[in-house]
Order: sequence, then structure tokens, then C-alpha cells
Amino acid sequence: MMQNKLLKIIEEAERGRIMTVEEMTDLFATADGKVVQELFQAADRVRHSAVGDEIHLRALVEFSNYCRNNCCYCGIRLDNRQVERYRMEPDEVVEALASAHRMDIGTAVLQSGDDLWYDTDKIIRIIRGIKESYGMAVTLSIGERSYEDYQAFKAAGADRFLIRHETSDPELYAELHPGMTLEHRLLCLRRLKELGYQTGSGNMVGLPGQTCLSLARDVELIRDMGLEMAGIGPFIPAEGTPLADAECGTLNLVLREVAMLRLSSPLLMIPATTAVATIDPQGRQQALRCGANILMPNFTPMRYRESYRLYPGKACINESSEQCIGCMSRMISSIGRTVGRGPGHSLMQNDECGLRNDYRTNCKQDG
Ligand code: SAH
Repeated sequence: MMQNKLLKIIEEAERGRIMTVEEMTDLFATADGKVVQELFQAADRVRHSAVGDEIHLRALVEFSNYCRNNCCYCGIRLDNRQVERYRMEPDEVVEALASAHRMDIGTAVLQSGDDLWYDTDKIIRIIRGIKESYGMAVTLSIGERSYEDYQAFKAAGADRFLIRHETSDPELYAELHPGMTLEHRLLCLRRLKELGYQTGSGNMVGLPGQTCLSLARDVELIRDMGLEMAGIGPFIPAEGTPLADAECGTLNLVLREVAMLRLSSPLLMIPATTAVATIDPQGRQQALRCGANILMPNFTPMRYRESYRLYPGKACINESSEQCIGCMSRMISSIGRTVGRGPGHSLMQNDECGLRNDYRTNCKQDG
């Protein structure tokens, strides 16, 4: 009875009907293995017809682990004194991407803690350096900045910006992020879209206190904001944080969200994340087979990798980027897919900044 109802929802979603939050909540909650397998297969078919078989590679450089925030789950939070802090000079960041360019990778992803040592000029220097030396697409993942900064980075040539909403539950968000609000996070996302960035959000799965309803709302938020990219990973408890003893998120729930995102937003760019590989050696392959179409090989110089520890046991930190690319290429062929060529831009049309009405207002107000 319930099984037939859920299978029908999946079938209709595959043909383009928008799922309700209630339906998605049921798909997160079901214990029916046949339903879950069908969800994954439907998402894989939609991925194939909407974005094809190419898997795009994004070269990740984690350039600073200084952070002014105190996110309760994060290993590099301000109050974690066990972390050895590092910052890469702007030239060093550009240099770290030379090998990625040689390997024909079309996109650089620059990630850091929320570190204001990199003022507007320093970030611009990095963006311009990458553009001038390699002509790669540039994605920033550097957290919350002013509207003026986002504007200046865009003008300097940045193409994309990732800033996860982390959880769509405003109370849970406030508990996990001292001094921060979900509202401000969403304001950042709206501003980035308005400025013409290809914008990415995402959330963790399995946070303490998170419900199936709130996961359904995560999918809804990413869909309704018209976002171009979404990164989903399990919450992994980290030493030196208030959540060190909490339970880890599960692969199965992550895969369900990836699949529902693919059904809800067929053109979305979805990475098979490092966090997924960290909790299961087959995690990335599985994510790629139920909706994901992006991989992010690590180009952070070896000597810094250990220190960019958002969570323990991070996959692949001892592999050189060459080894990493080799391994990913084999993974891609083994599942019958191909390595993407060129910058791998989003295929979504960024008209009217792609926002539905309720998200479109007040982009420039409130700090
Ligand atoms: N300062 C930037 C980058 C944050 S780190 C920003 O705020 O956008 C990138 C992502 O790692 C975070 O958005 C979060 O979703 C994830 N992350 C951090 N700690 C984690 C943990 N313990 N388990 C799983 N994911 C984590």
C-alpha cells in the first residue's frame, strides 16, 4: 500500500512533477529497500538525460584554516586550540593550481575558514592570478562577506560561489552556529545569485536533532532558490568540538538526498563529496550512481592537508593530486562514465536571478 504510493511519487517525479515536502519526508523515512533502490535508479536516469554522462573535475585548494566562526561541528572552529593554523600566500595559491591546469582541469575551487586576513585585495589577487595564468573557472568557498566584497570578487572574474546553508531548520542552525543565523546565510545566497554567480548551497545529513522533515526542507530550499550547485555530506563528529561524541550521519540518507535533489532540480551540479568517501570507501561511486556528477580532487599542498581537518579520517589526504586524478579517472571509467571537458559551467538559465518570489526580495539590505 505505502510501497505503491511511494513508487508512484518517484515515477511522477521522474516525469517532472514537483514533490511536496510531505512526500519527500516519507521518502527519507521509509524503511522499504525496494522504494529506496527505485529512488536511486530514477535519479540516475534523470541525471543521464539532464546532464549526461560527463563527470566534471574541480581542483580544490584549501588555502587557510583560520576561522572567525565557532560552528559546533567543525574541526577548524575558532575555539579549537588543537589545530595548527596555516595561511597560504596569494601567489602560493595560484602556484598550487599549475598542475591542475596542466592536467586539463577546468575549474579551481578555493576554500578556507572565514578568514578576513584575506581582505578584498588579496582575494582579488588570487582570482586574477588564476584567470591570467590558467584561464580556469574560479569557484570561491570562503564564507560570509559583505555585498561589496561579493560584487568585487565577481568583477575580478570569479564565476561561482559555494556557501552551504548547512541545515534549513532555523532553530537547529542557531544552536549549531553561535552568533550566526540561517536568515543571514540565505541573504548571502540571494546576493550571490543576484550578482550573477553560479551559486551553490548544501547541507549536512545526520546532524544531532535533524529530522526527515528538515531534510525534505533542505531539498525544497535548494530547488526553490534555483541554485545551480549543491554539496551534500554526512555530519562526521570531530575531536575538539562540542559534537565530538555525537553520532555520524549515514551514507544511505545522504544518497537519498542526492537522489531527491536530482529529481527536483535535474540540471543541478552535485558533487560526490569527500565526506561521503570518508564514511564509506564506495561512497563516492554510489553517489555518482544516484544523481551526482562532480568530483573534487584535492590540490592543497601536502604539507597543509593534515591541518585542514574539518572532521577526522578525511579520505585521500595522503594521495598526491596526480594519484588522486588517476584514481578518479579509473573510478569514472569503471562506472561507464567520462571525464568532463572544459569549465563545466552550470546548464541552468540564470534568468531573473532564478529565484522564486519569496526569496527574491531584500537582497541588498541588512548588513
Ligand atoms: N568557511 C566556509 C567553508 C566551510 S568548510 C563557509 O563557511 O562556507 C566547508 C563545509 O564543510 C561546511 O560548509 C560544512 O558543511 C562542512 N563541514 C564542516 N565540518 C564538518 C563535519 N564535522 N562533518 C561534515 N561536514 C563538515
